[in-house]
Amino acid sequence: MLRSFQQYIDGVFEDGDTRFDSINPANGRAWASMPAASADDVDRAVKAAHRAFLDPAWAGLTASQRGKLLYKLAELVAQHADQLAALETADTGKIIRETRSQIGYVAEYYRYYAGLADKIQGACLPVDKPDMEAFLRREPIGVVAAIVPWNSQLFLSAVKLGPALAAGCTVVLKASEEGPAPLLEFARLVHQAGFPPGVVNVLTGYGQDCGQVLTSHPLVARIAFTGGPETARHIVRNSAENLAYTTLELGGKSPVLVFDDVDVDSVSNAIVAGIFAASGQSCVAGSRLLVQRGVKDRLLARLQAKAEAIHIGDPQDSATEMGPLATRRQREHIEKVVAASVQAGAELLTGGGVPAGRQDGYYYLPTILSCPDAQIPSVTTELFGPVLSVLTFDSEAEAVALANDSVYGLAAGVFTRDLSRGHRLTRALRAGIVWVNTYRAVSPIVPFGGYGQSGLGREGGMESVLDYTRTKSVWIRT
Ligand code: NAD
Repeated sequence: MLRSFQQYIDGVFEDGDTRFDSINPANGRAWASMPAASADDVDRAVKAAHRAFLDPAWAGLTASQRGKLLYKLAELVAQHADQLAALETADTGKIIRETRSQIGYVAEYYRYYAGLADKIQGACLPVDKPDMEAFLRREPIGVVAAIVPWNSQLFLSAVKLGPALAAGCTVVLKASEEGPAPLLEFARLVHQAGFPPGVVNVLTGYGQDCGQVLTSHPLVARIAFTGGPETARHIVRNSAENLAYTTLELGGKSPVLVFDDVDVDSVSNAIVAGIFAASGQSCVAGSRLLVQRGVKDRLLARLQAKAEAIHIGDPQDSATEMGPLATRRQREHIEKVVAASVQAGAELLTGGGVPAGRQDGYYYLPTILSCPDAQIPSVTTELFGPVLSVLTFDSEAEAVALANDSVYGLAAGVFTRDLSRGHRLTRALRAGIVWVNTYRAVSPIVPFGGYGQSGLGREGGMESVLDYTRTKSVWIRT
């Protein structure tokens, strides 16, 4: 018997007319039944969000009242952390250790945005006209279409819903068709927190169907998207008709630069976590390792030993260190690119296949490829899987050139004991986030986003709240 989930439109939970099965990636079997939102469902959700945007039940709340609702939501997320984590693990295969820890962050992010709701301020402008006063009001932008991919859905929606609701917008959130269970469950917490009907609507369904209708809807004023660059281009073209303001958080091929003055042991731990966490299905995965020649052999030996020691298993078991990939399609993509890379001259140091006894789910071994040049397919392509491609450099200038040789520019890591070099590199690297002697640190206070094909706009920090408002300039003759 499959577990059944519902969508949430205008404050009501519904089954929807069409449904699809969700697959547990740990065994490849259907475990739950999900609604697939129709064009009519999307239209009703957007219209409900538009009505709610104008309704005094929401529009009439003070900023601190909106903040209180967000605090309540944060507390409910924290109270239901175990349940949400188990659902995310069942639906996406992400290990329970990671989903539990990430839900802690989700609650923290909602708390942070709750605190910002009443810090959104206009301004009095000192115009050079004695008989005039000018001031700036900040108003919420309107109905937001928030679209997220399957990895980290609760987290990636928190960085959209948190600032949007703090600013006074209303939202139609589209969960990914791959693993929507945690967001459909999250809708129950939104309901319990007491948001008026229509303020938050949660749907799921296929991108080409419900995503397409959502992003071209004339009542959508703002699109906040996280996903792949191809989909992003589609969305931008689609939203052009209505000129909806759009931010994009996209893919990456993040370089990790390691200089030969480092402590190999501690750096190898950071590199392993940087690439193999979430089975490599992370936009900031440190998937290109650029290593200085003097430390290369020692570092690769250590990385290989650590990769081979990773405990692969059932993602619901808290002892498991790496679970399956989220979909069969994802594994096939990785297999294809790894094979093409070996064909092009890359040396397979470890991994490169399905772990023994794990044929049923979508598992793939932690893999390290030593690459002779930067044209190898695994170096240029975002794999979104547990594959580390290694390139060697001699000088700092060569390292920077290799690091910046990518259409992406989401994140970069630098490991060196020379802090002057660390500073120089933070200026030279073309990436939205640079971590020096650490990797993957995140905070709601620190903006997140990419250069180049990694996206447009930033999430996190006060600026992301202002990004859900627009200013109105007011002139008064006194
Ligand atoms: P995807 O682009 O295929 O799908 C993302 C979402 O877009 C899904 O909800 C999907 O249904 C929807 N969608 C698909 N086609 C659509 C259309 N035509 N119109 C509207 N919506 C549509 O991405 P994915 O494969 O689910 O996720 C992996 C990608 O996401 C990777 O490239 C990864 O790097 C990126 N990502 C980026 C970040 C970041 O913050 N920069 C975080 C996580 C993942």
